[in-house]
Amino acid sequence: MRKLLTPDLILPTGVTGIDLQALKRRGIQGMILDVDDTLLVLGSSDLDPLVIEWVEQAKQDFQLWIASNNPSTRLIGSVAHALDIPFINNAKKPFRRSLRRVIAEMELTPMQVAIVGDRLLTDILGGNRLGLYTVLVLPPGPTRSIGAKFIRAVERRIYHLTRDKLAVEVPRF
Ligand SMILES: [Mg+2]
Repeated sequence: MRKLLTPDLILPTGVTGIDLQALKRRGIQGMILDVDDTLLVLGSSDLDPLVIEWVEQAKQDFQLWIASNNPSTRLIGSVAHALDIPFINNAKKPFRRSLRRVIAEMELTPMQVAIVGDRLLTDILGGNRLGLYTVLVLPPGPTRSIGAKFIRAVERRIYHLTRDKLAVEVPRF
């Protein structure tokens, strides 16, 4: 279980800190992006101009998809529309169904796809179950709901248990 919750890469920055060239060298050709606390600060619907710029850059070398557990078609659709990338909302990560659909749409193999998100129990667990390259980004702002705070506390615990292993990026090939 611990292995399934261990990301291949942890970035203390947000998505904009992802080294696109390094991902490319790994053979990654597609990226599945989370929205809440990854592309957006939770509770906000305004995209950071730096995130918009990063997405534009990423599009040059990667197929991008949004897969969000957020049930709001309106919110996730508006983010996807603003960034001009396809999306699935209510994706039910860590279940594999939506992620499999995205990989099929990309016409790539799981090895060629990275998943980027802020949550171990959804984004990273779902990605690892399918053999994707998993990237954990740390959320940019404070988390609001009590339920989310509790889950975060659990995740922090797991993170501390595994952090020794995470000091260096886990080689893939
Ligand atoms: Mg999230």
